[in-house]
Amino acid sequence: MKILNVVGARPNFVKIASIMSAYRNAPGIRPLLVHTGQHYDEALSDLFFKQLDIPKPDINLGVGSSSQAVQTADIMKAFEPVMLQHKPDAVLVVGDVNSTIACGQVAVKLGAKLIHVEAGLRSFDRTMPEEINRVLTDAISDFLFCTEQSGVDHLLHEGIQRGRIFLVGNVMIDTMLRHRAKAETSRILEMQGLKPREYAVLTLHRPANVDDPAIFGRILDALEHIQKDMRIIFPMHPRTRANLAHSDLGKRIETMPGLRIMEPVGYLDFLKLMTHARVVLTDSGGVQEETTILQVPCLTLRDNTERPATVDSGANQVVGRDPVKILTAYRRVMDQQRLTIRTPPFWDGRAAERIVRILCERFNV
Ligand code: UDP
Repeated sequence: MKILNVVGARPNFVKIASIMSAYRNAPGIRPLLVHTGQHYDEALSDLFFKQLDIPKPDINLGVGSSSQAVQTADIMKAFEPVMLQHKPDAVLVVGDVNSTIACGQVAVKLGAKLIHVEAGLRSFDRTMPEEINRVLTDAISDFLFCTEQSGVDHLLHEGIQRGRIFLVGNVMIDTMLRHRAKAETSRILEMQGLKPREYAVLTLHRPANVDDPAIFGRILDALEHIQKDMRIIFPMHPRTRANLAHSDLGKRIETMPGLRIMEPVGYLDFLKLMTHARVVLTDSGGVQEETTILQVPCLTLRDNTERPATVDSGANQVVGRDPVKILTAYRRVMDQQRLTIRTPPFWDGRAAERIVRILCERFNV
């Protein structure tokens, strides 16, 4: 059985790492890896392949960045001949990026089964491009693998047959647990002069936060206070950097000595930074999940989350973009001692193994 596995952007690489590794125990499956090129540079792509031992892609579509419509269309155009040449039985897509829906759509129209890993997550915020990608991909998938119970509930509510839905756990957590020991050897804390639990980590890249200078400015109002209290390490996503270059906010950040901006860091360095942080502030989906298992308090700078299990676990608080609310939540975290976390079911490092086992059963290989 031949499966084409699609990746395009940073969070996809982290997810596919554990799936590609689980295929090694399934000799009946022949996996091929397709990199669409949505993220293509060293910091957001190559480094992840090296550090996470992801096999070299069999096929590179080399699409690159552009507007969402052009990018989605370019991926579809480049993926169709790959499908026609390789004639896979199934296509596996992960997450919620443009590559996910672009390749998913081409796959089903050419008669392949579509497997969606991380299905059913919903923020119910249709202004998020990722939410559109999630809803559309789930609607056309044959196998829907969920990370948390909310995903199963949403899919059932949307009329997806129960027999197609599988609660298997979280492949991003599989990868994290497998690399935790290696990440401890990272020297990033020493290189940055940081002491465990005496700094905060920040990531921001969602269009809703960084495209509008007024909203980004409000987040900066909160950060301005926090950086006086605690050093903030900010590995900056290229999208965020590009937006800062076009506004006065860049100059404002320069006046904040406690806010240290860096290039995006590799997976192992970032895992080490998160593990020893006092608090993480983020708008990332994956980071909300990783901090849950690391038992590090996470303040999500969004009005919603598609990952409510991270909130129920006790690690994550959705605090929005209002500076007063962010600061109140930050102070509450500072007053807390250790967190008591309830680990979401199946976030145990074996999700990819479950996915591959189910595929072997269903495809009789
Ligand atoms: N990450 C990383 N370096 C960074 C920032 C994030 O390795 O500088 C990792 C993080 O640990 C997680 C993934 O990138 O595994 C999350 O990617 P991102 O926030 O871009 O995507 P999202 O999860 O929001 O879709």
